[in-house]
Amino acid sequence: MKIYSEELSIKTEKKFQIVNITSHVERVVQESRVSEGFCLIFVPHATAALIVNECEPRIMSDYIKWITEVFRPGGGWRHDEIDDNAHAHIASSIIGTSRVLPVRGGALVRGTWQEVMLVELDGPRIRRVIIQVVGE
Ligand code: ZN
Repeated sequence: MKIYSEELSIKTEKKFQIVNITSHVERVVQESRVSEGFCLIFVPHATAALIVNECEPRIMSDYIKWITEVFRPGGGWRHDEIDDNAHAHIASSIIGTSRVLPVRGGALVRGTWQEVMLVELDGPRIRRVIIQVVGE
């Protein structure tokens, strides 16, 4: 079994932003030379998240609309007394900070409309994305 690791550094520019990182993930899978296994994608942050879904401009703005409606920035959260980002902590914990996708035939397995996206919830910041490809 092989484990191949790489870390990306993604600079976000807005408070809320969706960044498509699929091409980076696919490049790491190729470089790993793993043909059968899986790919773990993880963001080591408490105020960012990862989603796997369609990456089309209107649905990307819908994701942000949904996040701001559901997690209510400035919604009277107690943590806002410290650094004004409780919405980002809650959204990160619910949406999640990792995803695992299969690797088959040396390629990342994903549906036609599935892209891997970093979700910035309290930017702008520099975000780390850890990608580990595990398999044979
Ligand atoms: Zn905080």
